[in-house]
Formats: sequence, structure tokens, C-alpha cells
Amino acid sequence: MLNSSVPTLLPVYKRMDVAFERGLGAQLWDDRGRRYLDFGSGIAVTGLGHCHPHLVEALTSQANALWHTSNLYEIPALQKLADRLVANSFAETVFVCNSGAEAIEITVKMARRHFFARGLPGRHRVITFEGAFHGRTMTGISAVPTPKMAEGFAPLLEGFDVVPFGDLAAVQAAIGPSTAAILIEPIQGEGGIRAAEPGFLAALRQLCDEHDMLLLFDEVQCGLGRTGNMFAYEGMGVVPDIMALAKGLGGGFPIGACLATARAAAGMTYGTHGSTFGGNPLGSAVANAVLDVMLKEGFMADAARRAGVLRERLQGMAARHPEMIAEVRGKGFILGLRTVQPAGDVVARFMELGLVTIPASDNVVRLLPPLTVTLDEIEEGVGIIEQAASRAEAA
Ligand SMILES: *Cc1c(COP(=O)(O)O)cnc(C)c1O
Repeated sequence: MLNSSVPTLLPVYKRMDVAFERGLGAQLWDDRGRRYLDFGSGIAVTGLGHCHPHLVEALTSQANALWHTSNLYEIPALQKLADRLVANSFAETVFVCNSGAEAIEITVKMARRHFFARGLPGRHRVITFEGAFHGRTMTGISAVPTPKMAEGFAPLLEGFDVVPFGDLAAVQAAIGPSTAAILIEPIQGEGGIRAAEPGFLAALRQLCDEHDMLLLFDEVQCGLGRTGNMFAYEGMGVVPDIMALAKGLGGGFPIGACLATARAAAGMTYGTHGSTFGGNPLGSAVANAVLDVMLKEGFMADAARRAGVLRERLQGMAARHPEMIAEVRGKGFILGLRTVQPAGDVVARFMELGLVTIPASDNVVRLLPPLTVTLDEIEEGVGIIEQAASRAEAA
């Protein structure tokens, strides 16, 4: 049945009954003045916490100088951002866009275009993995077309072969003469903080080398310091040919990027892609400010040390409260609690006690605190989780 009435805001989200008004670091305040501890970071976006002074300064001073020009002109801050991403990763070239889905869009386009440019347009299929999330564009939902994401949107984009996550034999079986690339989240975020085994990623790298395919990493969620390294691939010892970034890159300002080797990007010549907003002065200024903080000597090591403390506390709690926590997953500050009760209920219970977390598939509650979260805030967050567990036990 078609319903002819609709809320003024398209009802594609089920929203919790809370409206945040102000944030500082890992803290949020709602419109009733209530304080929360933010272990969600707006889904791994505000990686340096809310209103980080260096980011506020970069945003406001750029806002007073120039917001937008166009990619028809030189944008020095964008050039600087690209140079820094290249200097600090495997990549040799960068395209800047506005979101994760857009970063995936060019990642897939670039892979296809690579083979086209080599006179191999038939090499266009991409192997993807069950449980992965690559955004809500037609490319994203076609890459892993679950009923939840893809129902009613047919015809989908052709050319994706979905195999079980971690199943090397299935990957091998899916490789055919038209396979161009393998696309994987090194750590599945929406899928429930499921990390690929380093050995599995290494085997994918080897398959790509053997079969002349490209390895594409979606680090939209797990990149930008979440894992304790700037990029997840660094800690897993496997280097991709193309990588999509977004979420944490702007610390809350919408910006995404596609990083690639010169060889992988060889088909992306003048006029083959573009974006009106991508890399505009405002976004580039903020992303550069994020890099200023994250690239500072010792920043990642310090974040990783605090993340280790959080993980240790969670592990202890899982041992004490098996009736609530079945498993602790992930690494660094991309952590998941697989819960015994429905994850959504647990998230709601944490929220009542003032702790913001994010549900994921596989009955997982995601803990994605800002990388700047203090040890005191970690103890406070853990205390709330403990309190929720004890209450559940008493009930
Ligand atoms: C969030 C996410 C996307 C999509 O990013 P949007 O900015 O929402 O378009 C893609 N891939 C992964 C792994 C994500 O977590």
C-alpha cells in the first residue's frame, strides 16, 4: 500500500528521543542540559572529540577568508592535504570528495577504468564480502546487496560477486576472467566490528598479485587512527592499491578521499571524474587540521595506549558479566561488545545511564570514543557499562 502522508523529514531513520545541543571532547549535552559521555563519535566521525580547539580555529579562520571556489581553480589547502595523505600512506595520488559513499564510488570507478585504460574493458567485476557496508549509493548497495539495503532499488549495478567474509576458497572460486578487483573493509564496522585475519588479507594481496587484480580497502570507518595506526592496513601488514577514507577525515566536517597508487590510478585522466564540493577550501582546511593533530609525534601511540586500557577493562567486564557481554571485538578505538540481549536494547540502556554507543549488525554494540578520550573518561564509561550490567542482573 502506498501511504500518501509523510513527515517533513523523510522517515528513513528511526531516531532516539534525544537532541544534542553542545559538545566538548568526549562529552555531549542535550537540550535539557543533561550530560553524556560520547563513545559513538557520530559513528566514528568526531575522532578528535567535539569542538577540538585546533579544528575550531581552522574552521573559523577559513570561514572568515574563503569557503568555496571550485576545482576549476587551484586550491592550495587541497594540494597540501593530498601531499600529506601521500606522504603518510602507500598512496601516490588522492581524489577528495564529500562522503564515504562517494569515496567508494570513485574507488570502484578507478578500478574499472584502470583495466579499460589497459585495453581490458572486460575486466570489470569486483569481489566483495558478506557483512560489508560500502554506503548507500547504487554502487554501495550493489556491492553487497542485502535485502535491507537493496530491496526495491533494482536494477542494481552489475559486476559484483559477494563471498563469505574470511573464506579464501570462496574468493578463489569467484575469480574469473572478468574479475578486476577485490573490495574489503579490513575491519567491518556496520557488520559488527569483524576484523579480517591478517593472514586472510595477505592471501588476498597475493591473489591480486598473481591474477593481476587490484586490492581495494574500504577504510571509511576503520581508518584515521581508529585502530591505533593512522590506517588499519598499516597494523595488518597488507598494502592495498586503492583505499577509501571519509568519516574521521574531517572530524565532523563532511569530507572523503580516495587514495591510490600511480599504477592503479592510471586510467583517471583529465575529465574522467569530478566533484563540485570535493576538497573545497573549508573542508580541506579542517581535514588539514585533523592531520595536524593525528600526525603529531606520539599521538597515535598515546591513543593506542589508552585504547589498550579500555580493552582490558572491557575484557574484565565480559568475564564478570557473561549474561550481558558474550565477546569483546576489535582493536584500538574501534571496539565492539557482542551482547546477549539485543544490541539495540543495550544501547538504549547505556543511553539512559548517560553513555552514547552505536549498535551494529551481529548483535554488537560499537564503542568508538574519540581518540582523545581521557583515562578518567574511559573509567567513567566502563563504570556505566558495569552499572548497566549490575542493574540487568538485579532486574
Ligand atoms: C559509513 C561507511 C560508508 C559510507 O559513508 P557515508 O559517508 O555514509 O556515505 C562506507 N563504507 C564504510 C566502511 C562505512 O563505515
